Amino acid sequence: MVEVRGLHKSFGTHEVLRGVDLTVEAGSVTVVIGPSGSGKSTLLRSINRLEKTERGHVSVDGEIIGYRRSGDRLHELSERHVLRQRAGIGFVFQSFNLFPHLTALDNVAEAPISAQRRPRAQVHTEALALLHRVGLGDKADAYPRQLSGGQQQRVAIARALALRPKLVLFDEPTSALDPELVGEVLDVMRDLATAGTTMIVVTHEIGFAREVADTIVFLDEGLVVEQGPPGRLLDSPENDRTRAFLSKVL
Ligand code: ATP
Ligand code: MG
Repeated sequence: MVEVRGLHKSFGTHEVLRGVDLTVEAGSVTVVIGPSGSGKSTLLRSINRLEKTERGHVSVDGEIIGYRRSGDRLHELSERHVLRQRAGIGFVFQSFNLFPHLTALDNVAEAPISAQRRPRAQVHTEALALLHRVGLGDKADAYPRQLSGGQQQRVAIARALALRPKLVLFDEPTSALDPELVGEVLDVMRDLATAGTTMIVVTHEIGFAREVADTIVFLDEGLVVEQGPPGRLLDSPENDRTRAFLSKVL
């Protein structure tokens, strides 16, 4: 479903992704772990083309992100077409990034109405159902400032789902939260996983990774150093760098 092949990304002379390969099956959860600066956020941002990469490619359901194929050549897509592709990939950030002047319901409904041009009444019904799904059915009319961090992040998850994405990317979704609010966000993510949502999650929550991930990927210095099912990767890592990293976080 998601194929990352030989992905390279540099900022100036700093090569941040140095040929990342990754395959994510439909309906599976991939957790990406790795040291600060290893390129985890850059990888997620490159998957939905918030970053342009120099070499390699990403495809989602066989569609190459940012390019169109003609014969055996690839042509770069216009920003308008990239936006359309990006709408099929949900992104949940560390800092919830809700629109402060919109209610929870309108935050969730905004993109389906303005970007996907779906009928307002239908979108509102669906947005309310999504707020119920993340446990916030009673907060539809609340503004972000009236919500806790955990509630805001759950609105952000509902907003990502409102575009009916094929894939949802999470970049440290609980890192900005007070410890007592982490659990409610992880619970929502666990429910999504159980429902068969295809997810790539960057997180330091190793307990969540062990329980929910199908695959854990260890990224270091812009390369996938090791990957495998949680039991194997966490309990008997094969690579010295994986072992050293885990000894610090476990
Ligand atoms: P963290 O765990 O701290 O979030 P990360 O693994 O997500 O780290 P990235 O944010 O992907 O790491 O950054 C990888 C490297 O790329 C870092 O050295 C960072 O300074 C650099 N970098 C990221 N974005 C930019 C940018 N827009 N311009 C220049 N350098 C950047
Ligand atoms: Mg990061």
